[in-house]
Amino acid sequence: APLIGVLAVQGDVAEHIRALTLAGAEAVPVRRPEELAAVDGLVIPGGESTTIDRLLRIFDLAEPLRARLAEGMPVYGSCAGMILLSAEVLDGHPEQQSLAALDITTRRNAFGRQVDSFEVDLPFVGLDEPFHAVFIRAPWVERVGDGVEVLASIERDGEEHAVAVRQGNVLATSFHPEVTDDVRVHALFVELVRAAGSIGDPAVVEGHPS
Ligand code: GLN
Repeated sequence: APLIGVLAVQGDVAEHIRALTLAGAEAVPVRRPEELAAVDGLVIPGGESTTIDRLLRIFDLAEPLRARLAEGMPVYGSCAGMILLSAEVLDGHPEQQSLAALDITTRRNAFGRQVDSFEVDLPFVGLDEPFHAVFIRAPWVERVGDGVEVLASIERDGEEHAVAVRQGNVLATSFHPEVTDDVRVHALFVELVRAAGSIGDPAVVEGHPS
């Protein structure tokens, strides 16, 4: 099974470890650069993007993480994780930095204060049935760059806003699949990590990952 880390400086780490395990991965928390170096892929959980950003630098993880992302390590960011992966963040803290692994612009807390948390059955590209998506003070994607595939979106005031995207080995959702019992989004990520690991391996037949 692929070894997938969950960034464990803040946020709902245990829920992601549980979901990844159910989806067929071996999942471990990542707090130190050596732990980051050992994993085949990484989940950046929900929480508070400003706090996670600050702690990444305090834990000396920011630079090693940028390096692994530049090498193409698969990564999945949920909510605050999506914000951290974005090229550009709107309504961020003035000192907030992002990892720029995804060519998107996100807006923090985009769904507004009155209805800051909600749940919806969301059609999702690649999944046969809608995904019951839980949004908690979620961002939305305001700009999608070339090469970014929109997997799900939500309409607000006549406009469509992407809430799940993929660019190469980078997957991100505005919502929190780890708080439900549905592990299909995590399973998509586990497949992505498996596929990335099999590049150049002649023993792996396409469509039949080992
Ligand atoms: N609003 C949070 C942020 O800006 C994200 C919320 C979440 O991850 N549930 O980081």
